[in-house]
Amino acid sequence: MRVHCLYAGSYAANTYLLTDDAGTGAILVDPAISPAAVTARLGALPPVAAIVLTHGHFDHMLTLREWRRLTGAPVAIGAPDAAALTDPHVSCYRTFLGTDTVFAPADRLLSEGDTVAVGTEQLHVLLLPGHTRGSLALDDGTLLLTGDTLFAGGGYGRTDLPGGEPAALVSSLRRLLSLSGERRVLPGHGEESTLSAEKATFYNLM
Ligand SMILES: [Zn+2]
Repeated sequence: MRVHCLYAGSYAANTYLLTDDAGTGAILVDPAISPAAVTARLGALPPVAAIVLTHGHFDHMLTLREWRRLTGAPVAIGAPDAAALTDPHVSCYRTFLGTDTVFAPADRLLSEGDTVAVGTEQLHVLLLPGHTRGSLALDDGTLLLTGDTLFAGGGYGRTDLPGGEPAALVSSLRRLLSLSGERRVLPGHGEESTLSAEKATFYNLM
């Protein structure tokens, strides 16, 4: 699977465009950058078959409306975070941007063990409560998209926003760090890392 990290600037999240090796299909994760900015950087895109949110925070869906309109792709989110699309308190739009922005409900609610197709390949869904109740990671055995659960250099998401739960976050971090095999770690904000580097950083959690 191939991945492009599309950094939108300021406190916006990393947007990821994932395509299968054959280039037959793509998904977009955490739309925070405009479609025009992406095509300016990458040229014409393969058909986007799904828009996946790693969790229901405003900074991971800043350009969701534009992408949904452009691609017509179904929007998927962890089931426990479903309310974020329709409740600006849950998404933190109200708290951080002072707006009551809402969206149409999700088209697909993701649960532990679900898979997301990327062309001819698959990503596995790991439900990782803690930063939010419905935070998830996407894993194909080589790429690990961690949302705001795990950041490069031993960082992790805050737990003081709606649905946050410190003990759950620790369990979720332990779960990610116990995965066997090396991965590229692709977080919701900041630089990418590797699973082995994060295991070394979090040695006291293991
Ligand atoms: Zn977040």
